[in-house]
Amino acid sequence: MQEVQFEDALDYAKAQDVSDPLAHFRPQFHFPKQADGSPIIYLCGNSLGLQPRLAQQLMQDEMDVWKELAVEGHFKAERPWMTYHEEFSRQLSPIVGALPKEITVMNTLSVNLHLMMVSFYRPTKSRYKIVIEGGAFPSDKYAVDSQLRFHGIDPQDGLIQLRPRMGEDHLRTEDILQALEREKDSIALVMLSGINYYTGQCFDMKSITKKGHEIGAMVGFDLAHAAGNVRLQLHDWGMDFAVWCHYKYLNSGPGCIAGAFVHERHLNRKDLPRFEGWWGHHKESRFKMPATFEPAPNADAWQISNAPILAMVPMRASLALFNEAGMDRLLAKSKKLTAYLEFLLNQLPTDRIRILTPKDPKDRGAQLSIQVKGADRSLFDDLVKNGVIGDWREPDVIRISPAPIYNSFEDVYRMVQILKKCLQL
Ligand SMILES: *Cc1c(COP(=O)(O)O)cnc(C)c1O
Repeated sequence: MQEVQFEDALDYAKAQDVSDPLAHFRPQFHFPKQADGSPIIYLCGNSLGLQPRLAQQLMQDEMDVWKELAVEGHFKAERPWMTYHEEFSRQLSPIVGALPKEITVMNTLSVNLHLMMVSFYRPTKSRYKIVIEGGAFPSDKYAVDSQLRFHGIDPQDGLIQLRPRMGEDHLRTEDILQALEREKDSIALVMLSGINYYTGQCFDMKSITKKGHEIGAMVGFDLAHAAGNVRLQLHDWGMDFAVWCHYKYLNSGPGCIAGAFVHERHLNRKDLPRFEGWWGHHKESRFKMPATFEPAPNADAWQISNAPILAMVPMRASLALFNEAGMDRLLAKSKKLTAYLEFLLNQLPTDRIRILTPKDPKDRGAQLSIQVKGADRSLFDDLVKNGVIGDWREPDVIRISPAPIYNSFEDVYRMVQILKKCLQL
């Protein structure tokens, strides 16, 4: 039941690029180059997105502001440092589907996850368990384990890890909901990823949030692989919090400042504990340096330190491009591009290849996780030698993520040809 009739041919891929309404975004990114100067086929946006060309100029501009205005850059710069991060909340609003006041940009992802759990993981004697997916990203597992121990709870007892059924690769939504029902009186927090980094499965965040709330738990999501990659409606889905990074699909540079969402209903709550610092203080009175903390009326209340401007600069370049392209167009292209990759992989004359990622486009984003039976890392090294950068996960999985903002149908076509050559098919 394929809407588009794909063709396994270079001419076809090139024709798709010619009619791609987003094709003009590709030249606005730097592609790494091979030894002969030709661009690498870069399909690793799930790990580190490419550099927007404009980023370097914006970085230089900010260095000049520092040079020329020094401390006055906080107020007198064209884009004053005092309010520098606020624009990001507005730009991220359509990308994550939240009100600007529910979004803040601060710290890095795992740090934000901890800060959110300080507020939203409040175990009691009977309700103290955290639910995550088995095979969660290691940092998330470490974060929840350490939160449990911080509260004096043994992770052996306090952590529920959801596993797919025997012989299956993905968690079924019905099984997730049933697991919540089974432990409905003991779960304090449900904290899954939006998209699992290994399989590429996108979870039904809306249903999970609804069920989590029904049983009286808090619900948060790690959207590292989901932000800028799939449709998100954080406000409407009603989850309590979410965190994400900007260096994967959102192309804002290695270790770039991360995002956090706190649902509107938790803003301005005086009873909610939080680790506080001066940048979370109400900005009108922050510089009166009052002795008592008065929280900002938005998600900025969770900010602790003043904004690391230089680490935020690339977001200006990248989020502007994202909003210019628009999520609707990006998602339409993404679905087609990933389906094309899937189609081409399915044409390969071998039974060594198995795609771990769900087939249904609503259950995935750009990434396909390709298991190559009997392969080891040398396959990945071969791909790199032939000019393809994807991402290798032990023992035998290549993750390939065509990013709709800069990848082309030709990239996808050529990548599969190179894979074919490396596998000697
Ligand atoms: C990429 C990723 C991280 C990385 O965390 P940092 O704090 O940015 O180093 C954490 N969790 C998930 C699910 C990820 O995909």
